[in-house]
Amino acid sequence: MRYNRSGKSGLLLPAISLGLWHNFGDDVPHRTKVDICTTAFDRGITHFDLANNYGPPPGSAEKAFGRILKEEFAGLRDELILSSKSGYLMWDGPYGEWGSRKNMVASCDQSLKRLGVDYLDIFYSHRYDPETPLEETMQALDQLVRSGKALYVGVSSYNAERTKEAYTILQQLGTPFVIHQPSYSMLNRWVETDGLLDTLEELGIGSIVFSPLAQGMLTNKYLGDIPQGSRASQGKSLSTSFLSDENLARVKALHEIAEGRGQTLAQMAIAWVLRDKRVTSALIGASKPQQVIDCVGALDRLDFSATELEAIDRYALD
Ligand code: NDP
Repeated sequence: MRYNRSGKSGLLLPAISLGLWHNFGDDVPHRTKVDICTTAFDRGITHFDLANNYGPPPGSAEKAFGRILKEEFAGLRDELILSSKSGYLMWDGPYGEWGSRKNMVASCDQSLKRLGVDYLDIFYSHRYDPETPLEETMQALDQLVRSGKALYVGVSSYNAERTKEAYTILQQLGTPFVIHQPSYSMLNRWVETDGLLDTLEELGIGSIVFSPLAQGMLTNKYLGDIPQGSRASQGKSLSTSFLSDENLARVKALHEIAEGRGQTLAQMAIAWVLRDKRVTSALIGASKPQQVIDCVGALDRLDFSATELEAIDRYALD
């Protein structure tokens, strides 16, 4: 594994991190979750990304990971970077979502209990709340750091402009805003067009990019029929409408470029996000340990020629 510094902070993150959004709910056997996490850790993936609402049901991914911490990773807390987030709907009533201080602090307390830990390494505002003053959301993050419940803070999916505002507030508060979590892949480049990556570089903030495999589309799994048990087959967050003939033709072309590089498409997709030095870590998901092993293989070939990058753009961009 390679470890990259998150922006100008002291925090080192593995070039590939594991997220527990899918495949860690009560609908998956605990043994599978253990195998995925231990396979990841054994390959140097020291960072596990969670959120209050990951499941189903919401909260169950944190509970499952809490059990893994206790039973498999006992004594390893200081070798791990754990993150969680609040912002999306988690509990009933007016305080169960968004960015009020009430929500953020209560949610962090709940996450700590489910995970069975005293602190999180990173706590995020999961989404920008247009109805709460940004100062309040940032003050909540500051409070979490000052009360010892989080070491570092970050924001997720905030655009460049809001990120700058958040940075200014957190600077004034003296809170370590070290990371941003946006989506980014060959097929989804809003962080480039919005100027977010430029902003992060300017401010010295790192980035951990989610869904670098476009939820599995940028792998070889949908080249034939939709496999049973895959995310698209379950009607979850990856709609089969993305798997149009046009999109699959692009994926096939990208698969051939990857083959020419001696990589799987998943490996090329990860190497592609990591080619940009402003990306600290590629945040993947996995439903099987073998997928983690395949993804970590991306690190064997990270360089791209200008011709390869042009060929990728030809198929990946509209
Ligand atoms: P990916 O784009 O990495 O998609 C993961 C899926 O791709 C897996 O579940 C699996 O699909 C498939 N896959 C992974 N590796 C391989 C492989 N080597 N070969 C074939 N198929 C493979 O990321 P996710 O969309 O899962 O997101 C990753 C993490 O990012 C989340 O767990 C979460 O922590 C974070 N995230 C954050 C968000 C935010 O708002 N901040 C939003 C979304 C994600 P299958 O299950 O079908 O086998």
